[in-house]
Order: sequence, then C-alpha cells, then structure tokens
Amino acid sequence: MEEQTFAEELTLLKEQGLYRRMPLVEGSQNARVVVDGREVLLLCSNNYLGLADHPKLKEAAIMAVEKYGVGSGASRLVSGTMELHESLEARIAAFKGTEKALVFNSGYAANTGVIPALAKKGDVLFSDKLNHASIVDGCLLARAQLIRYPHNDMAVLRRRLAEYRGGGRKIIITDGVFSMDGDLANLPELVAIKQEYGALLMVDDAHGTGVLGPTGRGTAEYFGLQSEIDISMGTMGKALGACGAYIASSNEIIEYLINRARSFIFSTSLPPSVLAAATAAIDIVDSPQGAELRRSLAENGTFLRTSLAQAGFAVPAGQTQIVPVFVGDTHDTMNFSRALLEQGIFVQGIRPPTVPVGSSRLRCTLMASHCRADLEHVVNAFVAARAAVKSDTLLCGEVF
Ligand SMILES: *Cc1c(COP(=O)(O)O)cnc(C)c1O
Repeated sequence: MEEQTFAEELTLLKEQGLYRRMPLVEGSQNARVVVDGREVLLLCSNNYLGLADHPKLKEAAIMAVEKYGVGSGASRLVSGTMELHESLEARIAAFKGTEKALVFNSGYAANTGVIPALAKKGDVLFSDKLNHASIVDGCLLARAQLIRYPHNDMAVLRRRLAEYRGGGRKIIITDGVFSMDGDLANLPELVAIKQEYGALLMVDDAHGTGVLGPTGRGTAEYFGLQSEIDISMGTMGKALGACGAYIASSNEIIEYLINRARSFIFSTSLPPSVLAAATAAIDIVDSPQGAELRRSLAENGTFLRTSLAQAGFAVPAGQTQIVPVFVGDTHDTMNFSRALLEQGIFVQGIRPPTVPVGSSRLRCTLMASHCRADLEHVVNAFVAARAAVKSDTLLCGEVF
C-alpha cells in the first residue's frame, strides 16, 4: 500500500467530517464562557457541580502553593510523596468506605496503569463495549485475554463467563455512568454475576463521582452497593473540579498497585495545589451544600432531557446529567454544533472513534449552575438549529 503523508491523512479526516480542532474557551468553566470572542452558554463541560472555580478550592490551592510550592518534584516512590497526598488518600478512602486509596495523575493514567497491573498473562478481562477509551487502552496494554461484551448485556456477559475455560483471575470492568450515553451500568446484575463466577469487579466512576447517590459517593452508592465493588476508580477533574484520579480498594490491592502500576511508578506525582483542591472538593461534595448542588444538577438533567424529547429530538431515557442528542451522520452533527454556537450554545459534536459509526451525537452536559431560563434558551436554540441544518439524514425522535 502506498504510504500516505500526514497531510493527506488530515485531508481525509476533513472529508469524513472527523477532523478535530480545539476551540479556545475564555473564562473559567462555568455556565457562561467566551468562545471565539462571543459569550455563550457552556453545555459541554464536566464541571458538573461548578467546583472548578469555587472559592474554597481556589483558596485551598493557593494556600498549598504558598506552603509547598508548585511542583511535587518526583514520582511518589522517589521523593514525591507529600503530606497532601496522604491526607487526600485518607479522605478518599473514608469517602468511598474502602481500606485505602491511591491517587493517579489522571483517569487515563489510572486505567492504563491499573488494568495491565491487575490482569496479567493467563488472566481474563470482561469489558463493556461502550467503556471509555482509557479502559480500552488499558485492556490493550494488558497481557490478559480480552472479552468485550455488548453494552450492558448481562445475559451475554453471563454466558461468556460460563463458557470461559481458562484459569487465572477474572476481572469485569465497566463505566459506572457511560460517558457518551449518560446511562448507568447495571451494577446489581454485575455484582450478582461477579459473585456467581468469582470475578473481581472494577467500576470507573468518572461521571458518577460527586454526582450520584445521596451523598455523592457515586454509582455504587446510587444502587446501595458500595461495599460490593472490588476496585473503584473515580476522577477528580470532573465533578470534583480539580484534576487527577483515584483507585479506592483493599489494602492488598493498593499495595500491589504501588508496586506494579507503571503509570503510578514512572510519573511525577500530582502537584500540591491539585491535591489540596481535590480534598476541599470532597469536603463540599460531602456537605449539605453538595447535596443542594446535586439536586439542582439532577433537576436540570431531567428538565433538559424531557424538554428536548418533547421537541422531537432523539434523546434516550436516562437519569444523569449527560444528555446525548442523537444525530447520526458526522457532518450533520458538526453542522448542528456550529448552528447551536450561532444560537449562543456551546455543545460539542461527538463522532467516531469516540462513539460507534452512525451514532454521532451532540453530548449535552448540565451543570448545577444552569438556571431554568438558560435551559429554555437551549431548547429553543436546538429547534432553531435543527431548522438551519435541514438535512434529510437527521434523526428525529428515533432513539438507538
Ligand atoms: C474522563 C474519563 C476518564 C479519563 O479521566 P481523565 O482524568 O480526564 O483522564 C476515564 N474514564 C471515563 C469513563 C471518563 O469519562
């Protein structure tokens, strides 16, 4: 095959509607930001509770910089473990109700480090087909056998486990809240299955952490199954408004990860400002103010979901702050996103390879700080943008 230049590959991406660029966003990640010089409503940030610019997080970060400086200096195993790492991890373990916790530099680093560490040659991984790319990459890095099961299809998962003849460790991995669809993993069934087959269950709760459950402990708390998750992963860059990720688990597993997770061992640890801000964020999540923010967020999710569905958009039923509006075709999706920006709404089009071919969508994410008038404006803008896009391939009211 003839070798393509990178420029040719980029041209091809443009033709396929798959070319990506980074919009410049001015201001902090709150309900209103400036994009390309214009003030717009932000409807695609994962800063769900508005903590990214919360005064308490800012103060904690500033004080940490004053006391400890900017950088952590090294990997944790060399000289980079600071008091703030230990206090944050103790706070996370208490929050998640586990023996221990370990922080990673990002969710991506956690999944690509932890999965290969836990699943070695001779082991087997069962992974939901809609799991986040960082889980996919973690599974590809692992030497274990990989079995992907159709999204939330518990019958197929059960069958694959029943058919599995190999030995070794069996690990089931799932997103808690699926990041591009906004639906939940069937944790009650997953827990039953892992018990039945003696598997370990790992839940990536990037979008549930701080958001779901009466006290914001995540998807497992929502289902009342907190003590049943063997390996809980959560991120600190979304609802917690900071950066980084954690694994909450048993003493034994955490000790093992310290010794074996390469993204933990071979990387400079999170800086003091981030550690202090994340600790302050958990304090807020775990307070009455956190409960209040979760209530507004949930109400906003319900309002937008039902209003868009009533206006004839293809919005799946769900219970989270992630509201996908299916469009189908990639070009239509990006045109729709541009038309929305003209209406003063910033929402990203999501395309392959992030989502399966033919299921491109606009992924709306709510924040607690959106007010009712904002969301009414969003619905009107969607209706106007649909008229402006005028494509016969546009999906309406038809949910995948
Ligand atoms: C965002 C996300 C990640 C990656 O986390 P980062 O901290 O942004 O690297 C991992 N898993 C899921 C499900 C996510 O949505």
